[in-house]
Amino acid sequence: MGKKIAIVTGGSSGIGFAIAKKFTEQNIHTIIIGRNKQSLDEAVSCLGTNCETIAFDITNLGGIPDVIKAIVKKHGNIDVLVNNAGINMKKPALEVTDQEFQQILLTNLTSVFAITREVAKNMVAKKSGSIINISSMAAQYGLPGVVAYAASKTAIEGVTRTLAVELSPQGVRVNCIAPGFIATKMSATALNGDPERKQKVLSRTPMGRLGDPQDVANAAYFLASDDSTFITGTVVAVDGGNSIGF
Ligand code: NDP
Repeated sequence: MGKKIAIVTGGSSGIGFAIAKKFTEQNIHTIIIGRNKQSLDEAVSCLGTNCETIAFDITNLGGIPDVIKAIVKKHGNIDVLVNNAGINMKKPALEVTDQEFQQILLTNLTSVFAITREVAKNMVAKKSGSIINISSMAAQYGLPGVVAYAASKTAIEGVTRTLAVELSPQGVRVNCIAPGFIATKMSATALNGDPERKQKVLSRTPMGRLGDPQDVANAAYFLASDDSTFITGTVVAVDGGNSIGF
């Protein structure tokens, strides 16, 4: 059997980069997608020959089928899809415009579905595959200031369950990881400069620290691997206990 092929959206930074690093180290050929060409180039120079890049804005819905077709044409198969790319915006709900709300949903939800649909066509045809979506604590409890983000992440958990019941009988598993607060650019933007919020996060995290992107990567690798062949439709919290903390 040849190498497994994985797609990791947003694989040039933060959690996505850690996932791509884990996958390439485990000899999975990993295609990372992002908008910024320079970040992609920097990532591939770290990750080596098991990694290739596609510069693409996932909100370009019309372009998605061709991107996925090109990957299938080149590699024949897609074994793993990690829908990691996402954006956040912290703002009081009453100040969020319709356009801002739509933009977050477009990136975190609509484009995730569009990519998943196209990739799943290939996976269903060969009756195997693992799809991993990335949710958030914003889908586990009421987190102030992120109304659109919470809507998108809560929805992705519903999408995960529906796709799991539709696709698992055809050999394709669909799961979600809900990271707690992980030290990346995104969480730095949300927490630095808001010491009260950071203190609240840490005080309700039994493990008393932010997560490392590697913590999420290890869970993604497990869900991608044959060690998890009977796991589908689930949401795995990788959060140091944040979602059950007092
Ligand atoms: P980063 O901001 O570090 O990375 C986000 C990645 O997504 C970047 O590589 C970015 O690349 C890519 N991206 C964003 N928009 C697009 C787009 N339109 N098209 C293509 N790529 C895009 O974030 P994190 O690593 O922190 O977050 C990764 C995921 O984990 C997100 O879904 C986030 O919601 C989720 N998450 C993060 C948590 C945390 O604490 N950090 C907690 C819970 C969930 P580029 O800018 O080049 O396009």
